[in-house]
Amino acid sequence: MNYFIIIIFTLICINNSLLSQNQIKDDNILAKEIAKPTQFIEQAFDVFHYDVYLNLTKAPTPETNGICRIHIKWKDTPDTNKFYFHLRDLIVDSAFYGNQRIITKEIGDKSSPTYHYELTPPYGKIGDTVIITIYYHGRMTTEPTSPYWGGVGSRGTSLFAMGVGFYNNYVSATQHWMPCYDHPSDKATFRGLFEVKSDKTVASVGKLIKNEIASDTTRIFEWETKYPAATYLLTFAVDNYIHISIPGSDTPVDIYTLRNDSAASARNYRLVPKMIEAFEQRFGKYPFEKAGYVNTPIGAMEHQTMISYPANLIRSTDSINMIAAHELAHQWFGNLVTCKDFRDAWLNESFATYCESLWLEYLFGFEKYLANQKAKTERYLNSISKQEGVFPLYDFPRTPPSSNYPETIYQKGAVVLGMLRYELGDSLFFGSLKHYLNKFAYSSANTEDLKNSIEEFTGIELDWFFNQWVYGKGWPVLSFEDYWSGNEFYELELRYYKTQIKDWATFENIPIEFNFKLKNGDYFTRVKKLNSADERLVIDSIPRSYTGPWLMNSYEPWNLFKDINPKLVHSLLEFTVSGDVAEDQNNENGIAFYPNPANSFVRIEFIANQGFADLNIINSFGQEIIKTIIITDDDWNNFHFDTKSLPSGIYLVKIRQGTKTLTGKFVIAI
Ligand SMILES: [Zn+2]
Repeated sequence: MNYFIIIIFTLICINNSLLSQNQIKDDNILAKEIAKPTQFIEQAFDVFHYDVYLNLTKAPTPETNGICRIHIKWKDTPDTNKFYFHLRDLIVDSAFYGNQRIITKEIGDKSSPTYHYELTPPYGKIGDTVIITIYYHGRMTTEPTSPYWGGVGSRGTSLFAMGVGFYNNYVSATQHWMPCYDHPSDKATFRGLFEVKSDKTVASVGKLIKNEIASDTTRIFEWETKYPAATYLLTFAVDNYIHISIPGSDTPVDIYTLRNDSAASARNYRLVPKMIEAFEQRFGKYPFEKAGYVNTPIGAMEHQTMISYPANLIRSTDSINMIAAHELAHQWFGNLVTCKDFRDAWLNESFATYCESLWLEYLFGFEKYLANQKAKTERYLNSISKQEGVFPLYDFPRTPPSSNYPETIYQKGAVVLGMLRYELGDSLFFGSLKHYLNKFAYSSANTEDLKNSIEEFTGIELDWFFNQWVYGKGWPVLSFEDYWSGNEFYELELRYYKTQIKDWATFENIPIEFNFKLKNGDYFTRVKKLNSADERLVIDSIPRSYTGPWLMNSYEPWNLFKDINPKLVHSLLEFTVSGDVAEDQNNENGIAFYPNPANSFVRIEFIANQGFADLNIINSFGQEIIKTIIITDDDWNNFHFDTKSLPSGIYLVKIRQGTKTLTGKFVIAI
């Protein structure tokens, strides 16, 4: 505590000098409304620095007393002199402007996303700076509902802050330990002095300036960042940490770990310098003082320069440390350029998740990148969209089964960025992302800022892309019929049917990759773009050495092509069983297949008269698999057919009795 008194004294001197320059105004001037987490309102103030002292000598017990100095600059015309700060579950003891005490008013109740305090410091003119000092104390808490993630957690020997919550309607959770304007649009530099018991270490953001004895039993750790950070990216973690450095990068890589985990940490973080290199190649120089990781009981969270990383993950054997790469990528996407409000959270998460694919590409090449994009698509379509519902990347719903961080904005978002890369090509895609990062560096951006940056850089109009993939929801749903022909080469004609689902976006310009496996093991690959509502695509010049099956790089629920990885692009789209098969499921045509798709057998049900019928089953090359005569009864008949020996694919069935022919299709999926 001694240490901090000197600083307080210095700051009070500065405050007094400011006070004399400013004219004091009364406080009944209409203030600008405070912004919700999913709303951006330009405020009359700009917080540009936080200076916080936090007594954590009871850690891991989450009790504290603290002093926070908030440095603000008036930036708007003098229609307001209100300043807002958030602080949750802690008690404000007093607030000062210089040595003048000012009243803080608690506004709203804790169930409100904008629950906050309001105060009215004396007002000067645009550009004037004001320092507000808030003394506070109490028990630091987490977000109020399970999983109790955001806020200040206490587990075992550890006390740690997580910057965002999953189900709290205020999202940003630094207000659980520090009075601040807790909105992602307002970034500030930060200096934190954390006093702890002598056997504890504090990890935080920026540079460690001092680690000094404060009293017989306590130490103070002083951390400072010269680069502005959004409040949700600030953190501290207190435990019996040791510090290790990972060599191999110009950027210091600092790890804070329990001694027991130090060997696992050295092993699992060894690739971080490579990750920095991988992302620097794509996005430019690493933007902060250091790359830091602190092992915490839960995580992961991309706090600026001090990523909170789940300790149990570090003990596992993920040889490429994908999550460390994801969090590191946030230092560019989320931290250097931050979402302006949380409607744009996809700007953080989609990019960081996309960078997982880039990390694989850096390590193992482009095919692994695409395989990862395919895996993300399948995960999104198979499970995430079913669990969370179908919604856009921008301004998504936040109540269960969704949350503040639904998997949709991660996995779907990553695939959408992959499609944008294909659309623009590598040099325009990565060039325009660099342009975006430079333009909004150390600041915040929204979806339109991203779109405009890419359009500026490329000269390509992208409304259509953002409308269908970012602002719109869903994905293209197609069915098709295939027709084979050709002599010297095969020719495949596909007749598509788009299913327009109510409320979903209308999709156009969808790249579809086709792969035809040849006898020598190579693939014949073509990409075609599907544009209008119903269209035919023709793929010609397919070598006769094609062996089947063929792949459309898309999701198909019967998993026919699961072993074939895309070569050039992976699109988010879904193929359903072709239209007439779907109808047949309802027995409307007098023929139906169960199950469809089939695995080991299919039961063909059909309407006939008593007598005999010809039954033919034909594969997608037009080859006859079965030709037989069956005895029939009046009305519905059954025919069981063993499909175990047949390859995956679509099969045509014809049943002819007299002049009447029934046709239908079934799918064999393995
Ligand atoms: Zn993330």
